[in-house]
Amino acid sequence: IKTIGVLTSGGDAPGMNAAIRAVVRTAIARGLKVKGIKKGYQGLLNEEIVDMEAKDVSDIIQRGGTILGTARCLEFKEAEGQKKGAEICKKHGIDGIVVIGGDGSYRGAQALSRLGINTIGLPGTIDLDIACTEYTIGFDTAVNTAMQAIDKVKDTSSSHERCSIIEVMGRNAGYIALWCGIANGAEDILLPEKYDYNEQNIINNIITNRKHGKTHHIIINAEGIGHSTSMARRIEAATGIETRATILGYMQRGGSPTAKDRYYASIMGAYAVDIMLEGKTNRVVGYQHGEFIDFDIEDALQMEKGINDYQFEVSHLLSI
Ligand code: ADP
Repeated sequence: IKTIGVLTSGGDAPGMNAAIRAVVRTAIARGLKVKGIKKGYQGLLNEEIVDMEAKDVSDIIQRGGTILGTARCLEFKEAEGQKKGAEICKKHGIDGIVVIGGDGSYRGAQALSRLGINTIGLPGTIDLDIACTEYTIGFDTAVNTAMQAIDKVKDTSSSHERCSIIEVMGRNAGYIALWCGIANGAEDILLPEKYDYNEQNIINNIITNRKHGKTHHIIINAEGIGHSTSMARRIEAATGIETRATILGYMQRGGSPTAKDRYYASIMGAYAVDIMLEGKTNRVVGYQHGEFIDFDIEDALQMEKGINDYQFEVSHLLSI
């Protein structure tokens, strides 16, 4: 391997820049050339490929988003597009690619690997919804951003003795909601993995809490459940307590990464280059039990994970 490429794909996440920087600088330190591929697989097919030097990644570790840009690319889901991508890699002398993204992006990496381009995936998503790893790049920042926003909503909610439904991101996963639920001391936490869609339980909970003298009632609702605005209307009608929905939205995807996201993304970026140099391909990097490890992409995609039952139970115990 003489030249590697790096791309970010799927949704962006804070810390992706730290990962790009680590890939570029580790590769250069190991005597490789590095090419940045812009806008994910779409940029690969459009040959938006630039040489990257160590200085090209200076002053980016603290920045949110991804300097390479990211995109979703339907063409790359087809065999034709994948073949074209591999040919473009060969044309540009790219022997291997580090792909920073989620499960969908690994499918693309798997296809390239079958076509003779070495690939290593890094888990880049705020949703934490990648089964082979306890950590994903961007989750820590997103959770901190959401937590701070929820604190602010809680202040005004208490002053006005309102009920607040705050919707956090996470696609079909409830990790951001669970973490904020505990970190913000929410009264109710609605997770797609656990919610029984019984609004009467929430309504009863609000009424009981009000009787006990609580001035606020914070409900953290996960994106995977959604419908926060209509839920607020129904709850207000049933309880007589003013109820507002706040959908935090894309603010959770941006912002300067936390120390944890910078640190883990940096180690993972370096690790990806080093295992590629060991001759590994079609692998994805994860973090489990305090160690950075790697898995075959197919094995990783077959794994499943869910919300930890004990942690979910604790979230209830603490919300009384
Ligand atoms: P994520 O990587 O965060 O899961 P997506 O699912 O949107 O995000 O995937 C990102 C990109 O990866 C897609 O736009 C597409 O280019 C590529 N991709 C997704 N699924 C496949 C697939 N089955 N085969 C090849 N490429 C895929």
